[in-house]
Amino acid sequence: MKLLMQNGLSIFGAGLFLICMGMMLTRPSNFASYVPEIAVELEARVEDPTVRIVLDAGHGGHDGGSSYVALREKDLALKVVKLVRGRLEAARLENVEVVLTREDDRYLTLHQRVAVANRYPKAFFVSVHFNASKHRSASGTETYHANPKPNIIENQLRRQLQLDPDVPILDTRGERFARSVQDVLVRRLGTRDRGVRNNRKFVLPREVIGPSILVECVFLSNQSEGLKLHSARYIEDIASSLSEGILNYVKESGNDPYDGITPLSGGDELLPAG
Ligand SMILES: [Zn+2]
Repeated sequence: MKLLMQNGLSIFGAGLFLICMGMMLTRPSNFASYVPEIAVELEARVEDPTVRIVLDAGHGGHDGGSSYVALREKDLALKVVKLVRGRLEAARLENVEVVLTREDDRYLTLHQRVAVANRYPKAFFVSVHFNASKHRSASGTETYHANPKPNIIENQLRRQLQLDPDVPILDTRGERFARSVQDVLVRRLGTRDRGVRNNRKFVLPREVIGPSILVECVFLSNQSEGLKLHSARYIEDIASSLSEGILNYVKESGNDPYDGITPLSGGDELLPAG
């Protein structure tokens, strides 16, 4: 994984050709090649008591994400993520650190974002996005999780929890995390509830080992929501709603990113998580 990060850093200095090379290095077909490296790092770090909340501002650099008039998704996401970091740090949770995947307007591949989260054995992951549609009436908030995780991720979880490699696991973390954040956003912003959605097609949140979600806060293409996004106060409201939802879930799980994983054994009988 260190190798991947070094590739990532060199990409930014070396232009479009290397960006393309970087994308090739991190595309899904190569995913299997970097997970074993993560496993080695995790073994070294598994005693680390610190829990990380990894905040990912969607898009960046040449990837602006959605845009509408003067609003660019990559800028809004970065602004919100920095405000969320401030609020989470102000909550002064013991043994909790906040990590950003990007601090400025730079491009990261999806797998570089995954790698930041999977560097830590104890991480909660939130990717922040804004929605857009050619239908300007489309509005509201939706939050994604991915369940079940791919086998390679479930195998990592079993290793970390010292479970038998064959034991099936029930993982409710993503759905609960998504519900916690979605509920606060909809209630506090008064947005249309487009629901908590399970989507295994997205690299994020699918390939993150910890509880992981992707939030589409509001529609920048919607007349009413787009207009509000020009207001610093509304951006603050989005950030404080996100941080409240994140904190609710982190506290509810007892600061434990494994809370919500249940090994299944003997048919459908549920056994307590080890
Ligand atoms: Zn996006």
